[in-house]
Amino acid sequence: MVPERKRHLITSAIPYINGIKHLGNLVGSQLPADLYARYLRARGHEVMFICATDEHGTPAELAAAKAGKPVAEYCAEMHAVQAELARGFRLSFDHFGRSSSARNHALTQYFARTLGEQELISEVAESQVFSVDDNRFLPDRYIEGTCPNCGYERARGDQCENCTKQLDPTDLINPRSAISGSTRLEVRETRHLYLRQRSLKPEIAAWIDSKTDWPVLTTSIARKWLNDGDGLQDRGITRDLAWGVPAQFDGAPWQGMEGKVFYVWFDAPIEYISATAEWADATGQDDAAWQRWWRVDKGAGDVTYTEFMGKDNVPFHTLSFPATIIGANRAGGAEWKLVDYIKSFNYLNYDGGQFSTSQGRGVFMDQALSILPADYWRWWLLSHAPESADSEFTWENFQQSVNKDLADVLGNFVSRITKFCRGKFGEAVPAGGEYGPQELALIAAVAEGVASYENMMDAMSIRRAAQDLRALWVLGNEYLQSAAPWTVFKTDPTRAAAQTRLSLNLVRLYAVLSEPFIPDAAASMLAGMQTTNRDWPEDVPAALAALAPGHAFTTPEVLFRKITDEEREDWQKRFSGIRS
Ligand SMILES: [Zn+2]
Repeated sequence: MVPERKRHLITSAIPYINGIKHLGNLVGSQLPADLYARYLRARGHEVMFICATDEHGTPAELAAAKAGKPVAEYCAEMHAVQAELARGFRLSFDHFGRSSSARNHALTQYFARTLGEQELISEVAESQVFSVDDNRFLPDRYIEGTCPNCGYERARGDQCENCTKQLDPTDLINPRSAISGSTRLEVRETRHLYLRQRSLKPEIAAWIDSKTDWPVLTTSIARKWLNDGDGLQDRGITRDLAWGVPAQFDGAPWQGMEGKVFYVWFDAPIEYISATAEWADATGQDDAAWQRWWRVDKGAGDVTYTEFMGKDNVPFHTLSFPATIIGANRAGGAEWKLVDYIKSFNYLNYDGGQFSTSQGRGVFMDQALSILPADYWRWWLLSHAPESADSEFTWENFQQSVNKDLADVLGNFVSRITKFCRGKFGEAVPAGGEYGPQELALIAAVAEGVASYENMMDAMSIRRAAQDLRALWVLGNEYLQSAAPWTVFKTDPTRAAAQTRLSLNLVRLYAVLSEPFIPDAAASMLAGMQTTNRDWPEDVPAALAALAPGHAFTTPEVLFRKITDEEREDWQKRFSGIRS
């Protein structure tokens, strides 16, 4: 039974540009999205998997200033760094875009204009700190001064780093510009654009209510923001910055927004769409190629759209971005795709505390790849994904999981059967012999296990899918242990040949099933089996006969090495504190 080929659009929350992400960030969106994309492709579906870097906003400007570089140059460099790390972790994006792209500028302005024409954007007057010497309004973080709480002299206008107290710029003693150090600051009136989310609330609420299959983590966060306190509020969508999508542009239904850009949370989700357009551009295709993923009126009616993100991103994806889409769709003429399913994650903690980017605590993507290949991390992170609750990375657990699951179970199976076959039959699938009750029971158990694994993967139940996959590996190991072809060979070599043939076919099957979790090991296993047959086992008995008698193979190198106690202790020390 080959399932119907369907179209799946998958997006991962886009990582912010200012620095390398830690493993908690990775498992909160990009990695599970990759797992799902790989699985759906393996099942024969048409997949568009999109991610990008989120490049606008104050933190990017500040990080660039700290690095002594123009912000555009800084972002281009950091995008290249993040893209390289994504390749290192085998994240199989169809496109890894940039929210600073020309496509995103154009689409962000298009959505803003369309919302404005629907009277869903209002202008609101606000008082804000203006730096006379810098000749600009200052965002809160651009104002520094002495903390009224602890006396720290470099507290920021939004928060004191030293005592963590939340501040308003006007709380600071001796406030000054973080850009020039100037103290000539004044409070002036300025106007900002607001997205009128309150007027879209009934439509957003009805849409959330229709999503009865969504995880409670997702809908509970959305409902909290919709209903708690005064309920969903209008949201400011402009900022006084130079770096971003200009809020004043040709055809804008407002005046006087010069010097302002759209708030990063307005343009970042639009980048999902823009990055798909960037993909079409990069592959030499026309607009129809990306619009068939995003425009219901241009063929996206049969697309299933799934978003992956950490729980902190849920409000923007259940309320703000849908408000943009629902509001724009009111204009008629274009019907943009709303998300069909949101898979959200809790947090991954690190060894008794939290991952911390500012303190450099935990393992960061570049460090991880410098000590072990991607598959080791992928397996641990996905099999411990923080789905129903926060989860915790410990070095003991990581060592145990890698050594047991990957080395002792999967790696051992592959190594044992290929080496045995090479020694007794040579490096080709042996002929002869019939399957007995034990083999037929194994085939039935594998078929059952595959069905369960598919159900878990279809449901994006990632930890349980990992358990099912591991259970399939265990079946092979246990079979080999009890069938013991090395003993049978002494008295009944023909029967040992049948046992070996089935086991070698299991190696190929494991490669296909495991590919979404551990793509490099899967590739090594297929290369060892000298086959390009990556067909999903829609029919398990047939799949276990794919490698015919006489099919040549090469005994693979060790798939997974074990982590020693010395390494574990060394790494635990190395990653406990300040990132060097
Ligand atoms: Zn303080």
